[in-house]
Amino acid sequence: MSKVAMLYDASKCTACRGCQVACKQWNDLPGITTSNRGSYENPADLTPATYTRIRFREVEEGGQVKWLFLNWGCLHCTEAACVKVCPTGALKHHPMGFVSFERDLCNGCGYCTQFCPFHIPRTETDVLTGKGKSSKCTMCQDRITNGELPACVKTCPPKALDYGDFDAMVAKGQARVEALKARGFPNANLWGDKFLGGLGRLYVLTEAPEKYGLPTKPSYPWVASIWQDWVQPLAEASFVVGILGTALAWLIVRRNIRMEEVE
Ligand code: SF4
Ligand code: SF4
Repeated sequence: MSKVAMLYDASKCTACRGCQVACKQWNDLPGITTSNRGSYENPADLTPATYTRIRFREVEEGGQVKWLFLNWGCLHCTEAACVKVCPTGALKHHPMGFVSFERDLCNGCGYCTQFCPFHIPRTETDVLTGKGKSSKCTMCQDRITNGELPACVKTCPPKALDYGDFDAMVAKGQARVEALKARGFPNANLWGDKFLGGLGRLYVLTEAPEKYGLPTKPSYPWVASIWQDWVQPLAEASFVVGILGTALAWLIVRRNIRMEEVE
């Protein structure tokens, strides 16, 4: 297996949100209080306790309203800005291709939240300890590394979610797109296989990506490279220089005191 991926087929999704529930259950995430916003979409956004959710979009076409659903969470980018900027190694590329997360290593700096091109990780700070932690979907790393399906894939009643080898998922997605086109969905397309090195969460869409609120061709945030390759090393270097400077100053003061004592 080269690398793994999940394949979400929006044309099969019924927005039952079983994936949201399965995700919470497997990851032992608490429920959160939300308010009625006049939509079945709930919660309104990802949160530190919500790693995956179904986005609802209403679009009007030919005088008719269409509902577009989208399963949303970490996209497990092959070129992942979060991995690049994480200073502690909490976020890593697993040999299976997904982006793993080790909560214990996270220092809550929030760089992943700032640099992710899809605004996925959520960083929260404990009001009592002042310590922060980030969180995001790990593709159920504890399940898939033991040969199990991700919890959301396992639970999805209409099998709108699939999981397997990246190339196999791309081939399956492309075949589904062709089938949808033949069945009266001329705008059907596969999203996620051709940018950022190929995403670990691929999408079969019935409409153009923009209609789902997705960028057509997301790109790697070059500021992440500058941050990791220049800003952080310089900051570390200036920290070391600062310590050396303080030590040197202390030695000089100590030497002067001794000389005064001798005089
Ligand atoms: S479990 Fe499947 S059908 Fe239900 S909302 Fe999630 S992806 Fe859609
Ligand atoms: S979607 Fe964001 S958090 Fe997920 S792998 Fe890509 S850069 Fe990292």
